[in-house]
Amino acid sequence: MQKKNSFYLAIKDLALVNPVLFRALSIHKTHKNAGIKIKRKSYLEGIYSDKSKNMVIKKSTQCGISEYLIIRAFYRAESGKNLLYILPTFDLRRQFVRERVDKTVMFTEYYRKVLNEVSSMSESVALKQFNSGTIAFVGSNTPNAFISYPADDIIVDELDNCNQENLIMAEERQSASTDKSSIKVGNPTVSRFGIDYEYEKSDKKKWFVKCEHCGEWINPDFFRNVVVEMEKNVWVVRDRKYNGNNTLRAICSCGKQLNRFGDGEWVAEKKSDISGYHISKMFSTQVTLQEIFNRFKDGLVNDSVMERVYNGDLGYAFTSKGAKIDTEMLDDCIDNNYLMPDKSTNPTIAGIDVGKVNNICIGELTADGKIKMVYIGAIPAENPMDIIEIFKRYNVKFFIVDAMPETRYSKKLIAYMGNRGLMNYYGSDKEDLGKPNEKKAVSNSRTQTLDLVKEYILMKNIIFPVNAKNIKDFYFQIMSSTRIYNEKRNCYDWVESGEDHYLHALGYLIMAKRYLSVM
Ligand SMILES: [Zn+2]
Repeated sequence: MQKKNSFYLAIKDLALVNPVLFRALSIHKTHKNAGIKIKRKSYLEGIYSDKSKNMVIKKSTQCGISEYLIIRAFYRAESGKNLLYILPTFDLRRQFVRERVDKTVMFTEYYRKVLNEVSSMSESVALKQFNSGTIAFVGSNTPNAFISYPADDIIVDELDNCNQENLIMAEERQSASTDKSSIKVGNPTVSRFGIDYEYEKSDKKKWFVKCEHCGEWINPDFFRNVVVEMEKNVWVVRDRKYNGNNTLRAICSCGKQLNRFGDGEWVAEKKSDISGYHISKMFSTQVTLQEIFNRFKDGLVNDSVMERVYNGDLGYAFTSKGAKIDTEMLDDCIDNNYLMPDKSTNPTIAGIDVGKVNNICIGELTADGKIKMVYIGAIPAENPMDIIEIFKRYNVKFFIVDAMPETRYSKKLIAYMGNRGLMNYYGSDKEDLGKPNEKKAVSNSRTQTLDLVKEYILMKNIIFPVNAKNIKDFYFQIMSSTRIYNEKRNCYDWVESGEDHYLHALGYLIMAKRYLSVM
């Protein structure tokens, strides 16, 4: 005799009404062999229930959307559709299929039953066939992977990091389909680019929760419910009971605590046939407000940190209007009672920018972790021994030198110093404190390196001598660069308007300090 089970009936109905949500709740296992929980009236329930043909999700990191894409993709394939699933690069695609897709199939009995192994025509495409439909996983940087594949659905993950020109080719693959659908997902980077641009074209749904105290519907917003800007760069915490040690709370406009994980609903801002969502860590994860707040405070003096708060935590695009280092900031680092010595007995570190002349910055680490400059100067780049002579005089124990444009020069310097130095190549924006290779070479992000110079100056973590302003080219070269957005590479660059050797020399000096602490 069958026992009537209301949950079972509800689930069975759900299979017909909302097959994607049904799968999430009853069939699907993640790559970690876990089930998924989707709360009633949560932001994810709203997204799982969406049947729009075109969706855009502008999101913070780690908010459960990859899992949604996998479940939806498997369901559509099983219904006989052909899907093109695009990730930024071939390598990311390979990792995604191996770590997420294959393991999900391995742990989910149902998927194992409906999956037919097929071999792919080329290495750049990973094919998965479920019943009669197929998913082709491709990297946006291997356009030949799209060319012969007719698609019904296109799923683009990490849109901003994809090759934008190749994505246009991908959309052309849908021309023969009678049941087209597309989902674009990503962490925004800058305004009006990638996912931010797509979201603007959508109905722009925002998540609202009801305040348990005043009944108002609130879109949890870090810049309204956690901190507010009273005047330029002066931020005040909304939570009046917060003292730095207790729990930081989100505050409603009524002044009472806002339950940011309370029941809510998606509300569209305008009409569009593209269904758009914005997801922020304000309601999507269990990350505490304190964690976001700490990063935000660090971001007030460091643009690359602030960029990550906007993009990764809050799901917002970030655009700063050309940040610079100015005279006032540099003046603030001057100790009016300090003159640099002729030599040093305390151990010091150095940064050298190599060019026609070599710009050298040498500093001593103070007890409170600051860098006190003991030597700032430029010498012709003829004989490396000229630098060694200065290093000896100032008791330099460790240094970082520019690897370009003269690697031989930098190599000699490192050899003469008994390997107590590293040469740096500027690498991708993701590289920070990369491990030295056997040639004593390291790779670090140029933008982050120069962002740190600005941070050290803003935090007064560098001490300049009273005559700093009069050192030839010193102020001028530090101030000659502006941090601006590079549209082509979709990232921020420090762009020089004149020579900027001392800016880099200071960057290498700070890098030397940071390497000392990890080596
Ligand atoms: Zn309220």
